[in-house]
Amino acid sequence: MIKSINHDPTTLSQKAVPATPQDRQTVIDLLDTLKANSQVCVGMAANMIGVNKRIIVVSMGMLPVALINPEIVLKREPYSTREGCLSLSGEQQTTRYKQITVRYQDQNFESHEQPFSDWIAQIIQHEVDHCEGILI
Ligand SMILES: [Zn+2]
Repeated sequence: MIKSINHDPTTLSQKAVPATPQDRQTVIDLLDTLKANSQVCVGMAANMIGVNKRIIVVSMGMLPVALINPEIVLKREPYSTREGCLSLSGEQQTTRYKQITVRYQDQNFESHEQPFSDWIAQIIQHEVDHCEGILI
């Protein structure tokens, strides 16, 4: 189900708690909401639809992919960039890493460890920050 976007800095600043298989509907809602906002948004975290669970979705090519309980276990090649956020207005300066490795679970709650780079890596870092309650 497509949900409305949370703009409340208080709830967005809370650290998300681990997701469990009981949160499958939130994963689906988040994928639906990202698809509905795909013109303006390339990734979302669950707290952006008001659910304080550690779930993110990221546009990878045509396909939005869910990363559940994501953890960045390796970061390489820092650079400075500017980013916007659907929950905030304007753009902010931030440091990202060109190469990252992410440990996460897929929609079936199977574990993966996968490297990502460049644009996809940047989106993941932005959304994982949301899970930590960090806003750019
Ligand atoms: Zn954001």
